[in-house]
Amino acid sequence: MSTEIDAQSIADKPPFSGRKAQMFPQLSAAQIARLDALGSRRRMTQGEILAEPGDRHRPMLVVLSGSIEVVQPGMNGEVLIVVHTAGSFTGEMSALQGIGSLVRARVREAGEVLVIPEDRLRRIIQTDAELSELFMRAFILRRVGLIASQSGDVILLGSSHSAGTLRLQQFLTRNSFPFVNLDVNTDPSVQALLERFHIKVDDVPVVLCRGEVVLKNPSNEEVAACLGMNQQIDDDRIRDVIVVGAGPSGLAAAVYAASEGLDVLVLETGTPGGQAGSSSKIENYLGFPTGISGLALAARARVQAQKFGAEIRTAYSAMGLRCDARPYAVELSIGTTVRARSIVIATGAEYRQLALENASRFLGTGIYYAATATEARRCEMKEVIVVGGGNSAGQAAVFLAGSCRHVHLLVRSKGLADTMSNYLIRRIAESSNITLHVNTEITSLQGDEQLERVTWKTAPDNALETRAIGHVFLMTGAVPSTHWLKGCIALNDKGFVRTGSDLAAVDLLSAKGFAARLPQSFETNWPGIFAVGDVRCGSVKRVAAAVGEGSACVQQVHQALHD
Ligand SMILES: Cc1cc2nc3c(=O)[nH]c(=O)nc-3n(C[C@H](O)[C@H](O)[C@H](O)COP(=O)(O)OP(=O)(O)OC[C@H]3O[C@@H](n4cnc5c(N)ncnc54)[C@H](O)[C@@H]3O)c2cc1C
Repeated sequence: MSTEIDAQSIADKPPFSGRKAQMFPQLSAAQIARLDALGSRRRMTQGEILAEPGDRHRPMLVVLSGSIEVVQPGMNGEVLIVVHTAGSFTGEMSALQGIGSLVRARVREAGEVLVIPEDRLRRIIQTDAELSELFMRAFILRRVGLIASQSGDVILLGSSHSAGTLRLQQFLTRNSFPFVNLDVNTDPSVQALLERFHIKVDDVPVVLCRGEVVLKNPSNEEVAACLGMNQQIDDDRIRDVIVVGAGPSGLAAAVYAASEGLDVLVLETGTPGGQAGSSSKIENYLGFPTGISGLALAARARVQAQKFGAEIRTAYSAMGLRCDARPYAVELSIGTTVRARSIVIATGAEYRQLALENASRFLGTGIYYAATATEARRCEMKEVIVVGGGNSAGQAAVFLAGSCRHVHLLVRSKGLADTMSNYLIRRIAESSNITLHVNTEITSLQGDEQLERVTWKTAPDNALETRAIGHVFLMTGAVPSTHWLKGCIALNDKGFVRTGSDLAAVDLLSAKGFAARLPQSFETNWPGIFAVGDVRCGSVKRVAAAVGEGSACVQQVHQALHD
């Protein structure tokens, strides 16, 4: 192992140089005295390793004397993150998430530390307002710093022509996981890695996990397992509530339920954020006058839920629900079940696929269902198509117009007025590099490995036009993710979950769940099983509405748990 260390710490480099005091604050004597009561003191010796990447359940260490250097091991040696001296403390977001460490911590100068175990740290964060703010801000900034440093021993070797690469980039980015992204077609340093790990170019995407394990075209589940992204907790425990889906509604339910003392498990197929996570900028969510990216909103909500003790598992799919026995059981894709006394269904909706024969072939290599910076990088200065007439399509068009040469917005209807907010219609009209094509739909996609040409037709004469365009963003409405509820939960004719007064008498009879009371407004045909957000029949399909429903349903969860 090389011990060569970069002389500057991340907090000394832009864009963090102005935030060093928040990223690595010094605790006052009074604050250390408060922590002293909750921890234990121990000596540390020079060179001692205190944490390695991947180590779980590490305590937070407050340095009383001596110093600790925190480094990020990578393929070219170590990169210095910081040296903690007296009054400083170790840790970043993984300390609260119960997941593997991202860094190595080593004693630089012998001395003494105060050891605060994980459960005590969580208690401090939930009860001591001053220290909570100080720790949370530092932990979040440190994670952001690790991501921005573009170093470390998690490397994605991929290609901008590969759909699998895009999927893994999205998975790691939306999970706020630091990784080094290398393109086999353009990055000169790749050859040495390919030789060293016996990887062929055809194997990409490849994830080098902790510099040792080579994962060839891995699933998200395999990456999550290798990187220790989920907590390891005994699944026999019966939770108060399992929230299925970590979009805005599920995360809101998790924040409120956990903050009110309930034992909460959140299951998420992909990455927290849901549809909102695929939005480049949400401008109508209360409290963010300049807008916020879906990614940032999701990352904050996730941290907030974890701060209160909710366990969030990513790359975990619910495959079925057993509602005829209590506690209720959720069947997982890995073949096991988890149980809870109440369930919140927050699985939202998925984009409608394009009904063209070869649309799935170009998924990720020309067809995209999200428009964030990750996808936009693939089509910088190129001509692109956005399909759809709703707000998500409008946002995507405006966002892509910032970096693409030209954006064609295709809608089947005769205009945008009925489906899109006025502010977006105005921005589209004012953008010189967005062209709106009304009464238009795509009829064929052509290409070899990559999408190369697109043909569309325009009513009323159905004139065909073919353009050499290789990037199509589909924003054409969504269908509910309720396939896993069939045979158990009452759905409407479009597959959305019926709740409260939308339930028919026959739904309640067949479920045989309610004897003493009527279902509450977010309750399904089974008592204690709730549905919130876009998955719920009649809900308003907006971030604020989803957040409102997720938080409001927690009161009804309490009621059901009391029954
Ligand atoms: C590109 C885009 C831009 C948008 N912009 C705006 C905007 O500016 N303003 C606004 O108000 N609204 C906007 N919306 C709409 C808004 O994002 C949605 O209304 C909101 O995300 C709904 O939240 P939700 O939690 O109900 O569902 P979702 O966001 O759909 O989240 C559901 C989650 O459940 C997970 N899931 C699904 N099935 C399973 C399963 N079986 N097991 C485990 N997990 C599962 C999914 O992976 C997903 O993460 C936008 C939508 C899109 C797509």
